[in-house]
Amino acid sequence: MSCEVTVARDLRGALLALARPGAPTQVLAGGTDLMVELRTGRARPERVVDVWKLDELRGVRAEAAGLRIGALATCAELRRDPRVAHGAALVAQACAEVGAEQIQARATLGGNLGTASPAADLNPALVALGARVRLVSLQGSRELDCEEFLAGYRRTLRRPDELVESVLVPTRPAGERCGLRKVGTRRAQSISKLVVALALSVEGQRIASLRAAAGSVGPRTLRLSALEGALLGAPLELAALRAAARRSAHDDIAPIDDVRSSASYRRQAFARVLATLLGELTGASACPS
Ligand SMILES: Cc1cc2nc3c(=O)[nH]c(=O)nc-3n(C[C@H](O)[C@H](O)[C@H](O)COP(=O)(O)OP(=O)(O)OC[C@H]3O[C@@H](n4cnc5c(N)ncnc54)[C@H](O)[C@@H]3O)c2cc1C
Repeated sequence: MSCEVTVARDLRGALLALARPGAPTQVLAGGTDLMVELRTGRARPERVVDVWKLDELRGVRAEAAGLRIGALATCAELRRDPRVAHGAALVAQACAEVGAEQIQARATLGGNLGTASPAADLNPALVALGARVRLVSLQGSRELDCEEFLAGYRRTLRRPDELVESVLVPTRPAGERCGLRKVGTRRAQSISKLVVALALSVEGQRIASLRAAAGSVGPRTLRLSALEGALLGAPLELAALRAAARRSAHDDIAPIDDVRSSASYRRQAFARVLATLLGELTGASACPS
């Protein structure tokens, strides 16, 4: 099947192409997802708008509310950007887990959001950080929480005439501790069996704030609300951390059997990985039995 490809030279050109009525149109950024979809026939757009050359969607800049990251920022760029290391370290950690170096050179933040795969590695980091996505169209722009934007299995709240322009990672609170763990078949080029991202702070001997998200354990990137509820204000006791992780494995996630893993393995591994990460970040040494 052939399709019409428009190589956009500027943002307005891209938005005009997306606003054309009629045939289904798909955005092409780094192409690491879309080219596979086209090759296998899972995506059959009649038109493709290639946005790779749009400088308006690139770059990282500090704003009053936080760090704004352009949709076309690649994992390779984000891994080595000192502003990201400072203002969105969890995103840099997640980027290091994506594919291998060749994929990281092309895989973009906007593409991870656009695909909305439940197994995506960057999206749990964005949700744990309370990041917001900015969408632009000829009508203007709007912002949504990434958590809300990632509405379902490979489904987002993006309208067909909109582009993901950028993501805002809110300014991090002083002393915040962040961590991400991915379980895959091997170190590189493996899609997650599960991925967990946490951002928390500790005051005295208690957890003062916590946002948590996970991937590959449900139909979309999931916020771990039961975990957050159980641990907010909780003392830094190993038993409490382990119990909350087990409860989260029961209440927060809905894993399935698929080619990468079984639901029961995912549930068990999730509870262990989560308890260990909580232990590391809070300073307690968790070795769940
Ligand atoms: C070998 C291999 C290994 C991989 N490993 C991982 C991994 O470990 N972890 C992981 O998370 N992912 C992995 N991926 C998937 C992929 O690399 C990521 O999802 C990547 O972030 C996609 O970015 P992209 O720029 O290549 O997206 P594209 O393929 O260009 O686009 C992906 C989707 O998003 C839409 N889109 C892209 N940009 C925009 C935009 N600005 N506005 C609106 N819609 C947009 C497209 O229309 C398309 O639907 C892997 C892929 C391959 C081929």
